[in-house]
Amino acid sequence: MILLDGKKLRDLTASRLKDEIVECLAESAAPIPQLAIIQIGDLAESNSYITQKKLFAEKIGAKVLHKIHPNKVSEGDLITEIEKLNKDKKVHGIIVQLPIPEGLDKQKIIDAIEPTKDVDGLTAINVKRLSANDKQAIVPATVLGVISLLEHYEIPIEGKKVVVVGRSMLVGKPLALALLNKNATVTICHRHTQNLEEHTQQADILIVAAGCANLITKDHIKEGQVIVDIGINFVDKENTVQKISPIGNKPENEIPKKRMVGDVDFEAVKDIVSAISPVPGGAGPMTVASLFHNLVETWKMQW
Ligand code: ADP
Repeated sequence: MILLDGKKLRDLTASRLKDEIVECLAESAAPIPQLAIIQIGDLAESNSYITQKKLFAEKIGAKVLHKIHPNKVSEGDLITEIEKLNKDKKVHGIIVQLPIPEGLDKQKIIDAIEPTKDVDGLTAINVKRLSANDKQAIVPATVLGVISLLEHYEIPIEGKKVVVVGRSMLVGKPLALALLNKNATVTICHRHTQNLEEHTQQADILIVAAGCANLITKDHIKEGQVIVDIGINFVDKENTVQKISPIGNKPENEIPKKRMVGDVDFEAVKDIVSAISPVPGGAGPMTVASLFHNLVETWKMQW
């Protein structure tokens, strides 16, 4: 079994991007590439993703402009800010950190981003370009991450039967479109799919983005498949940590610790498949790397 190692490829991507930036800066008077991140609220998950993005930026010599707004910020204020960033020649990519509070029109806010700075590839114009297989399309980071991982490990996509589980606008749908553009035969499964296993077993490549721990078990797969797991779920650790009481040596209370898992029961399938991406360490790190790949590409187009 080949482990599709997202951390290793992320690090390779980081050094490639770093070299590209150094080289371009040496040849011209371009400003340092800069990503603007618009955060609304203070979700712990978002804070952690933003920290990862800042660390990656630092590694490759790019900058991050982090704009934080309270939950009650108005759509108008957000759009005004995005319009300013659109015009700012020192900003080459703009993302809105998702999710954003309910009550705000997510698509309207995202669509305020100038398509050439839309490094998450989520504006309506970019989605349309992706569906038209237009070369100008910016491929969303998660999608690009998965495709880069498959290509790095020389897993053919063209002509293969790919089953995508999940049809979100953020992951499942753009992933299916991008794979279609790579000449795969794509099936999309979702919450209402009947007999999921009948579909998943047909796949040469099975990609799971449902946000549902242990959705895919050994009953859903067949020998030799390639699996990419995009799920991120937090479950209680089976082995809870025992805290020892300072008085005497009796266990005081059992503290369940959270563990990050994907949508696939990795242990149950790992000896059956030909390749699989782990969680953590698979699609996740590649998403960050791919976002900055997109930033470097848009940056190169802007000077
Ligand atoms: P993400 O942003 O990671 O794609 P979402 O929660 O927006 O996650 O979307 C989850 C997707 O997964 C939906 O398209 C949903 O239909 C699909 N899904 C969720 N549970 C199941 C399930 N049990 N079987 C098949 N598909 C599922």
